[in-house]
Amino acid sequence: MFLFALSVEPLIRMVHQNLNSEQRTTCPLFTSRVYADDVLFLLRDADDCVTLPHILETYSAASCAQLNTQKSFLIPLGSWPDGLTFNEITTVRQAKMLGMTVCNSFEEMVEINWTKTTALTRVTLFQQIHRNLNLFERKAQLVLPKDKGGLQLIAVKEKCQALITRNIIRGHRGESDPMDNEFWKRHIPLLCSRKSPLPQAIQSLWKIIESYPPDLITADTKQQTKLIYKYIMKDSINSPRIVEQFPNQRWHKIWHNIHRANIPTAWQTTVYCYINQIIPTEERKHRHHLTDSPACKICGFIDTLKHRITNCGTAKTTWNGAKNLLQQIWPTSKLNDQHQTLLLMDPPTENAVFVKAWLAAGFLHYQLTASSHTMEELVKILTTERKNFEQKCSGRYSQNCQELQLLHL
Ligand SMILES: [Zn+2]
Repeated sequence: MFLFALSVEPLIRMVHQNLNSEQRTTCPLFTSRVYADDVLFLLRDADDCVTLPHILETYSAASCAQLNTQKSFLIPLGSWPDGLTFNEITTVRQAKMLGMTVCNSFEEMVEINWTKTTALTRVTLFQQIHRNLNLFERKAQLVLPKDKGGLQLIAVKEKCQALITRNIIRGHRGESDPMDNEFWKRHIPLLCSRKSPLPQAIQSLWKIIESYPPDLITADTKQQTKLIYKYIMKDSINSPRIVEQFPNQRWHKIWHNIHRANIPTAWQTTVYCYINQIIPTEERKHRHHLTDSPACKICGFIDTLKHRITNCGTAKTTWNGAKNLLQQIWPTSKLNDQHQTLLLMDPPTENAVFVKAWLAAGFLHYQLTASSHTMEELVKILTTERKNFEQKCSGRYSQNCQELQLLHL
């Protein structure tokens, strides 16, 4: 990277000195962006079309680097005439630059890029909803750290605020790139007056920045966004609803066990929804006035999560079977211990906790997702997952892998 920067620096300097010379004296202009082997130049008048090939020729002669005309292209922007060209480089109407599609018309460019961005967002949203979570209801919980009951997702609005305020602070301190520095030097003195041409949203951001503690303003640039984000988030952190409802559980242990490495993701997702009690049982739907009756559609008892796991139809057999499996690896366990392990993912022991949590997660996932239950099928699923895990370890020593051997399947 350093070598690249050293070798390309003379080219950038020549371009800055020789292109847009008139405008450059009044305010700095965007002329070039250079990233790895991608170089982008923005030409503003026809003279530049003559100057740029000369610059490139000089640079080639001095450095022995060649412009790859096959991989280069020109895009005429705005009212720029189509016919202007040089070095037989192809003229195109649309191209991708630094991840963004650039095209001749501004409207078209906005349209194309927004369509792509919204399509990507839609995919992400779909994945989140697929986790059976009500995103909007749970947003505050999902951004919490995993050991506090969240999924460590990014709070998009707050992250954007942190990024943009960091940029303003840097520009104001003259530590950003020259264009930004110049922009904020001109605009910040006007921000609190009516003369400011900037949108209201930016003006109110400046008020927010003024309320930041001084150490955020002077923070190291590498850490600054992270620190600002943390500062913004500190007020929005609440406990998950389930924690407030049942404050006496050992939540720290429960969250830790759900997110243990080497427990299959599908199991983790089901258990996370189960522990947060957001699986739509008939009882829950009835409570929210979505159905006429809280009765189980299979057996007629009240359809709660506990009913589905321990008592409903075929689930009863596998519930007893799972308790037997747990007894194998933990012969001294009492009924209470077994319930706390299998129903809460919180084995009240320090010994071989992984295999107990792993068994509980597999069991809960099976009870809540299978339409009918047999011990053979549950054992088969557990065996397959254990084999997958062993393959992943492929002979390397793993404490977790060792613990799984305690289970006689
Ligand atoms: Zn039932």
